[in-house]
This record gives sequence, C-alpha cells and structure tokens, in this order.
Amino acid sequence: MKSHLYLGRMFGVPIGVNLWVGLVAVVLAVSLAEISLPNVAPGHPNSAYWFAGVVGVAGFLGSLVAHELGHSWVALRNDVRVLGITLWLFGGVAKLDGEADDPRAEFRIALAGPAMSALVAVLSGGAAWITWRFDGSDVLVGLLIWLAGINAVLAVSNLLPAFPLDGGRILRAVLWRRSGHRLGATRTAALWGQILAAAMALVSIWVIFSVAAWSGMWILALSLFLFVAARAEWASAAPAPEMLDMPVGRMRRQLPAPLPANASVADARDSLAANPGVPFVALSGDRNTTDSLVTRDSIARIPPAQQAVVPARSVAEPILALPRVDPQDPVREVVARLGGGHHWWALMADGDGTLAALLSSDVDGLLEVAAGG
Ligand SMILES: [Zn+2]
Repeated sequence: MKSHLYLGRMFGVPIGVNLWVGLVAVVLAVSLAEISLPNVAPGHPNSAYWFAGVVGVAGFLGSLVAHELGHSWVALRNDVRVLGITLWLFGGVAKLDGEADDPRAEFRIALAGPAMSALVAVLSGGAAWITWRFDGSDVLVGLLIWLAGINAVLAVSNLLPAFPLDGGRILRAVLWRRSGHRLGATRTAALWGQILAAAMALVSIWVIFSVAAWSGMWILALSLFLFVAARAEWASAAPAPEMLDMPVGRMRRQLPAPLPANASVADARDSLAANPGVPFVALSGDRNTTDSLVTRDSIARIPPAQQAVVPARSVAEPILALPRVDPQDPVREVVARLGGGHHWWALMADGDGTLAALLSSDVDGLLEVAAGG
C-alpha cells in the first residue's frame, strides 16, 4: 500500500503527505469545531465552527510545510539539495540529499525551521490582534490565536536539544565545530536525544495519571518515537567492530631517517619537505640514540634566514613526551588509551627499530569511514 500522497511542488521542492496525517487532521478539525472554537467564541451556527475548523487544519498543515520550507530554503542556499518534504504523524520532515559538510551550514539549516515557525506564530498573533482591533469575527480571532499557539509550540519543541530534533542538530553543529569531528558530535547529541526522550516518557506517565490521559499518551508516543530515532542515529554513528580490531600498524606513517645530533633547523625543514605526510622528524642524541624530535611548528617559529645557522637541537622536544604504541595494538585499544576526537601523535617502533608515527587524525578518519560518514 502506498503510504504517501503527493501534494505538489513549492519552490521546486516536492511535498507529500503520509496518510496517517488524515487521522490527525480529522481529530484536529473535530476538536476545533466542537470544543475549542465554541468555547472561545460562543453563539455562532455549527456550520461557522466547522468551516473555521477545516480552515484551521489547512493552516496547521501549512504551518508544518512552512517549517520544512524554512529548512529547505537554507539548505538550498548552502548547496545541500532537498529531495522532498513529507508531512506525517508527528510533523514534517525535509529530506536532504546528504548532509551539510560543515558545522556552520548544519547550524543554519537546523535553526531555519524553528525560526520560520516563530515567524508564522508572530504573524498569526499580529493578524489576530488586527482582527480583534477592527471588530472582526471572534471565531477568526480564536482561530488565529490557536494557529499562533501551534506555531509557537512547533518552534519551541523542535528546539529541544535531542537529536534528531532541530535542537539536537544545533547541539551537534556546536559540538562538531568545537571538536572538528562530526562523528563524535553525532554520538553525543544522539545520546542526549535518548536521555531527553526517556525523561519525556517519565513526564508523560505522570501526565497520564494526574493531568490528562490523552495528552499524556500523545507525549508518550512522541517520546518513544524520539527514543527510537535517537537510538538509531547513535548506533549508526558507531564504527564497525571489525575496523576497531585492525592493528594500528596499518595506519603508520614512516618517519624520515633521524637527523644527526649536529643538524640545523634547515636540515629538519628539508627532511620534512621531502616527507609531506609526517608531522615531525627524530633527532639523534649524543650517544647516537634518537632522543628528541623537531616538529613543523617549531621550525616555523625560526625566521627562514636563520634556519641554516640555528641548531635543530635548540627547538627539539624530548621524544619521551610522545605516547608509544605497538604496531600490533588494535585501534580500539589505542583509542581507549589516547582518546578519540583529541589531537595527539604517538610513536611506533618496528621490530628493526625504524620509527613511525601514528596520527590521531588518521585514526579519526578511519572511525568516520567505518561509520559510513
Ligand atoms: Zn525542523
């Protein structure tokens, strides 16, 4: 059975509706026409309430579309293609072709939906005020206030910091920008999504038994949906287990031959220029053992004109400061020991004593690939 109905295109974005939305529409129309509107604006014929109820449902669906169009418009401006918008039981979803590849774009796209809802809320509230001011229909005033309220709820509830809600995406973008790692940020944001969903479920049980059974059950259904969605995002951001068992030796970067004890900064610079993938070169000590290292940063601190006369030793750092890893260590163990998402270098010695480096960026890169990101 086809579960979606195609409505049409807006700004080139196809819009569809899940058939379950029909159920929500009927419930909303009945509650507006039979309960809410007769309460706030009594004394009108039934037909007036029903007409307003149907208009209200159309306004509600239009509000969902406006929210998703907000996301879509900003996504298109950030070169992320929008495949379509679908309205379903708990709101709308704008399906994007892939994800934003930088946290700033992600932040803007996520914020655009709630911002649009807030705008519609303000416009509806303003229209209600104008209608009231010029003695317009009290049914219309009630309807516009209801629409303003719905959009305010849409804006605020979507800002909850629970991935995959918009607020959770904003949280992820902030974490992503701070750490530089999309994967770790997704894990954290999706973990908060699960915690928040569990807290919501607890609140809903309290609501069911002490406030209103139906509202409580609606919140419970929402929190279950949110928990399942957050859990799925959390799991899909985890690296594949077999990648974690890989020995780190396969990711090593061979270091250039150690420089002699009397090498200059220029020698270190030339050595690193010939080995673009490595961050430092080892330096031999007095007794011909490598005891220190010279990094690209420390070379850059010496003015080029002086590099040939300044001894490399004067800018070297002790090699003992670097953590050591065994080429046979599995990725899982090294990440647990040195930390994922942090910047580090480790030193690796092969059986014959040649030195190699392991870079945190390579390990994180593997974790991203393993997670399909
Ligand atoms: Zn949204």
